[in-house]
This record gives sequence, structure tokens and C-alpha cells, in this order.
Amino acid sequence: MIRVLDSFIADKIAAGEVIERPVSVVKELIENSIDAGADSLIIEIRNGGKSYIRVTDDGSGIPSEETETAFLRHATSKLASVSDLDNITSLGFRGEALASISAVSRLTIVTRTEKETSGTKLILHGGRIFSREAVGTNIGTTIIIEELFYNTPARRKFMGTDAREAAAVIDLVQQYAIRYSNIRFSLLNNGTSIFNTDGGGDTLSAIKRAYPNKEYANLIPVAGKGIQGFISDPGTTQSTRRGQLFFVNGRLVHSEDINKGIEKGYGDRIFQGFPIAILFIDIEPDTIDVNIHPGKKEIKFLNQKEIITLVADAIASVMNTEEAVPTVKSLHLSQYQESINQDITVPVDIREYLQGLNRDNQMDLSDTYSATGEDIEVYKKPSLNYKPSFNTNTEPLVNQSISTSTFNFDELILKGYIFDTYIIMQAKDTIYLIDQHAAHERIFYENFIKNFKKSEQLPQPILKPFTLWVSADVYNIDRDWIYTLTKMGYDISDFGVNSFIVRGIPAYMTKEEAERFVSAYLDTLNEITDIDNRIVIDKLILKSCKSAVKANDKLSELEIKELVESLSRCENPFSCPHGRPTFFKVTKYEIEQSFRRR
Ligand code: ADP
Ligand code: MG
Repeated sequence: MIRVLDSFIADKIAAGEVIERPVSVVKELIENSIDAGADSLIIEIRNGGKSYIRVTDDGSGIPSEETETAFLRHATSKLASVSDLDNITSLGFRGEALASISAVSRLTIVTRTEKETSGTKLILHGGRIFSREAVGTNIGTTIIIEELFYNTPARRKFMGTDAREAAAVIDLVQQYAIRYSNIRFSLLNNGTSIFNTDGGGDTLSAIKRAYPNKEYANLIPVAGKGIQGFISDPGTTQSTRRGQLFFVNGRLVHSEDINKGIEKGYGDRIFQGFPIAILFIDIEPDTIDVNIHPGKKEIKFLNQKEIITLVADAIASVMNTEEAVPTVKSLHLSQYQESINQDITVPVDIREYLQGLNRDNQMDLSDTYSATGEDIEVYKKPSLNYKPSFNTNTEPLVNQSISTSTFNFDELILKGYIFDTYIIMQAKDTIYLIDQHAAHERIFYENFIKNFKKSEQLPQPILKPFTLWVSADVYNIDRDWIYTLTKMGYDISDFGVNSFIVRGIPAYMTKEEAERFVSAYLDTLNEITDIDNRIVIDKLILKSCKSAVKANDKLSELEIKELVESLSRCENPFSCPHGRPTFFKVTKYEIEQSFRRR
């Protein structure tokens, strides 16, 4: 028999989509508070939020006569018509969260607007109104969720341990505290202060407060039209994307497009792993679709190319700075291991802070269930005449005074040469160690690509042709590859019985380089099945370039200077084609630290 479900059952089912665990409740409540224009937020959880979640804000509050309406499905003050859906500037818009949360918990709301002299306290059990009364309270809203999923045992089972759920909440609150650095956040877990921010609007200090790890010590500001943020130097990477946070129009989102933009922006500066990137993107609301994910965690950019380019350009524009040269420290930090669960418990004395927000002290909402009150069902049509003030914060999040400076090779002074491999240079208070092999590889590669892209190369004849011996399988495969080498500038032909003879080499290579390159190339030929594949060819060229360059060749002072000079002319002098750094820096400050002078 097909039945139309009772609205409470329907709400419980719908709740499953939005509300999976305590952190999803916290997210919805925080977003509501931000939408209500709050300047300060207190988030308290117990048992990872499973038994208790409280969010108190000093936002607009909800007028008494609309408090019940807020708990109806599709009741929202943020959208009035279908066309509003294309122009969403608030974090919420579906009018679902409060209905969903209240359907699966015991919920208490205490709220008051500026115009009212007293507040409203409403208690709902499983979405049904249990009691309502007028109470004295400050302007703003407190929502308390107790016994999440008490009436949906199946869902309760899917929650993790207290610690796990708490960690997810802490992570989330920290992330919001970064984006909304102009809002005071205070987070308590089991009665202990976990962390709080001052609402001073300094994004970088909010980041550092949330992530005291060393990886975040030297972030580089990025800025472009509609984009700002902080990124790490390419040497500071992590094994996952956990250091990448994206906010689009104030909303915390995942986005494949932004991921791609980051990858493109760093280009071949990354050897392994994922750099840190905290990006704030502000874009016309009608160029994104925020309504594609139940938890609103994903958005769709209508012009994907544009967003990829925006991100890539912003990042690429700081890649040639002194700041983006990896430090010896950052390279050691990026041991390419999952960074150990950071110490998230930053005990801070927040009593003072709480006293400043003494409104909570006035309320004791525990034990309110004994209150008398019958289940009143409210089926009022959502009224939309009341709109909270949205936080339309367009202030710069990245302090413009944090500056970067373009890396300048002219400032480098040769200071030494060690292990027949590493060149020591100095500029101001910084020492640079250049890996001659990586540098040579970069120079060779860029030269190679530049010449390869030009029209066909004429080979430079060599006095003594050389023979290349190959295995029978290479000798017998399709000879297409000869064309590739000819295009590069090789004069190569069949010499019979598994051998080829080279009578001319590319003009831009030395004989040794040419010899090493072609033999590496032939060595890898039999690994390649798909010679027409551009990516495969690129890999092959990369590999052969590496082989063409020899390490541990002792250089004369003149050769060192020539090498550095050639490196400086490279498009990307900072890393070898495989992403290893060509040089890293050690600052005077780091040296002093090591000597415990700092
Ligand atoms: P949405 O956020 O999508 O509008 P919700 O179910 O989260 O839907 O909230 C319903 C309505 O309740 C909101 O549109 C808003 O008017 C009101 N509301 C919820 N939380 C708060 C709050 N903390 N302060 C002021 N108003 C709130
Ligand atoms: Mg909401």
C-alpha cells in the first residue's frame, strides 16, 4: 500500500540527509548564527556533541511570533522567491536545518530580538513543540540540542567515539573561525575551553591559532581579483589535502576545480604531496550553484575554466618570490608523513571572555523537560517578512601589509662550493644552497623544450659518429621514434644487428649530453606502448633529461657562475622538472635559532 508519510516521519527521513553527526548540527547552527549577523559565538559540546550541543550567538534573534515557524520544513527568512535561488548570499537557504535537527533530538531555543523586551523559550521533542514560555534573556539566540538521534537508533549507531566526533567539531569550528576572523568564537568541550578567537579580524592570527603546527609558520599571502588567501611554499606539503581550505562567498566548500587551480598554480614546484592553501574566493552569487549537496559542502562553478585560472594565477604569481623558496626547515617538516594529529587543545583562560558575554549566566536550560506542556503542533505558513541582517563582510581578509618580494638572482653572492655538488650563495640575511645537478637538469630541460618546440632542428654533425646498441625488442619495434629524435635534431640511422649510428646531434646539446639523452631514451622505449600519447612522451623526455645531466662533476668557479646565470634565465629556476628544489634557503634567523641564540 502506498502511503503518504506523516510529516514527522518525513522530517526524520529528511534529517538523515542534512544531519549525519554532531558536526553537521554544529555546522548548520553556526551558519544560522553567521547569517543572523552575530559578532560572537559560543559553541559548547559534551560527549563529542552526542549528548549536548549548544550554540549561543548575539545575532538578530527570532521574533517571538515566528519562533515556531523557524522549525517548519522549508521555512526560511532568506529566500522569498525562486529567483532568489540564483543569488544566494546567505549560508542557509533551504529552511531545512532547524526542522531536520529538531526532528531527531530534544531541542531548546531561547531567542530575543532587539525590539522585544523579553525572549522566547521553546522546547521541541522530536520536532513536536513541548513547551513555550517567555524568558528574560539577551538579544540573540541560543539553541541547545540534547540526545541527538534519541528517536532514530539506527542513526545513533553510526556516530563515532566521543573523541572522534569532538575532533570533527573542533576542526569545523576552527575553519569557520578562520574565515570569520571578525567574529569571536569560543569552543568548549566537556566543560573545558578548547580554543577561542578574539574577533579582531586578523585572518592570519586566526589561522595560526587554529593550526599551531610549524607548517603554518611561514605562509605566503596571495591575492587576485576576487581571491585572497594564504599558501605554503612548495616545499611544505602534507600527504593529504587537509591543509587546503576553500571558502567561496563565505561558505566552506570542496571543489575539484579549486584543487586543479592549486595544482596548476604550483606547477612543477611540487615534488610530493599537497601544499597548504587557505583560499577565500568571492564571486558573483549567480555564477555558482550552491544547491547541489545536502550538506551544502560542494558547489558548482558555472565557469569552471575561469575559476581554475583565477586560483592558478593567484598562486603562480607568488611562486617567483623569496618567500616561496623552500627553507631547510620546511623541507624537513614535509617528511611526507601524515602530520601527527595536531595538538588541538589550546587551553586558554576564557573566563574573562565569558564574563564579557554574561548573557549565558542568566540562563540555566538544563532540566527543562520536567516543564508542563502538551505537544502542540504548529502548522503556520512560513512568514517571510522578517529578514536577518546578513554578514556581508567584504573587508580584505588578508592583511595587505604582509608583503612578498620577487626573488632576485642579481643579489646572490657566491660564497662557496661543497661536496663537488652544492653551491653556496648569499643574499642579505639568507644563505642559498643550490644543487648543481638539479639546476643543470632544469636548464637542460627548458633548453630542450624551447628548441623542441621550434620547427625541425638541423643536426650538428659530429666528427666521430657513435653507435648505440639496443636490445632486440627495441630494435624491432615500430621506428616512429626515429622521427621524434630527428625532429629534435638527431641524425640517427639503422646500423644493422641491434644497433643504430648517430652522425649528428641537436645543436643545443653537448656531445655527452646528446649521447646520454639518446641512450636513456632508447632504454625506456620498450616500456612505452603508446608512443603517440603526449603524457607518455613527456615522461620519457623528462626521464631522458635527467639522465643527460651528470652529478658530481666538479665545476670551476667560472662554470658555477655560468650555471647560476643560466638558471636565472629559466622560466622556473626554483625546481627541477620533477619538482625537486634546485635550491633551498637557510635564514640567519634559523641559524641563530639552531645555536639557541633566539
Ligand atoms: P535556513 O538557514 O536555510 O533559512 P534554518 O532551518 O537553518 O533554515 O533556519 C530557519 C530560519 O530560522 C532562518 O531562515 C532564520 O530566519 C531563523 N534562524 C535560525 N537560526 C537563527 C539564529 N541563530 N538567529 C536568528 N535567526 C535564526
Ligand atoms: Mg540554516
